[in-house]
Amino acid sequence: MTERAEVQTLDTNMHGWPGITAVYLLPGRNPAVIDTGPGSSVEHVLPALQAAGIDSLAWIVLTHIHLDHAGAAGHLAQHFPEAKVVVRKEGARHLADPSRLWASASQLYPNMQELWGKMLPVDPDRIVAISEDGPVVELGGGRRLEAHYAPGHAKHQMALLDSHTGDLFVGDALGVQIPEAGVVRPATPPPEFDLELTVHTAERLHKLGPSRVFPTHYGPAPDVHQIFEEAPRRFTQWVEAAERVYAAGGGLEEMVEDFRARRPEFYPDLDPEVVEKFEYSCSYDLNARGILRYLQQRNTR
Ligand SMILES: [Zn+2]
Repeated sequence: MTERAEVQTLDTNMHGWPGITAVYLLPGRNPAVIDTGPGSSVEHVLPALQAAGIDSLAWIVLTHIHLDHAGAAGHLAQHFPEAKVVVRKEGARHLADPSRLWASASQLYPNMQELWGKMLPVDPDRIVAISEDGPVVELGGGRRLEAHYAPGHAKHQMALLDSHTGDLFVGDALGVQIPEAGVVRPATPPPEFDLELTVHTAERLHKLGPSRVFPTHYGPAPDVHQIFEEAPRRFTQWVEAAERVYAAGGGLEEMVEDFRARRPEFYPDLDPEVVEKFEYSCSYDLNARGILRYLQQRNTR
């Protein structure tokens, strides 16, 4: 396998759905995965890695520690005892001890275990906590992954740029773009979503001039300039819609209702069934909760 080995998109089949949550595999001398899927997807991810010829992993890199991205980090770390786990410093302690993260997510999901499987702790000695932008992962032959801090969707998110290919792995920084839909759906979950940071991050990442962009949900974006143009616009559009509901005294339920009613505006020309598929990566409810929290906090600062 060459140093320039092409990135492979592995499907986690999250919650039984194909094509919504990816693990990106960078094969080569020091193989790396970017994001891991949830603990409940390990049964898909391990065989997919095996089928790709991976019997050893050097790096498990996490864009952020939400359960659909990092839930299986402990499982993969156990399976590949030589791998280092790379994460922004703000997320590191939650990998070593996932109990608080788990408790906070339990407030949003009644059936945690069934949806997310288990989250196993990662030995702190194996965690590489990133506090600055720059090269963080050596893939071999001078090829590196560079970290770029990418707050907005979450405070502890980073994007990773492949120095050889120019591929940029953005986690949820630019929202969700599933293959059946060209449209970007914002991902605005609580408790850390922030619109200004999201827009600022999109601008900064665009300036890196990546050749391709890989949101975790799902696969390479069909058009690099389109996703950078559309993502900030859609995040803003959803927040503005929610703001009007909030200003009129509405709460969570009214926001969700309003989002659903705006389907033709949010998703012109898109099949309603495809729109529903977005629910499995970031639901209307989760997005409304995150925006509501953001609006409440913004009003108190
Ligand atoms: Zn996320």
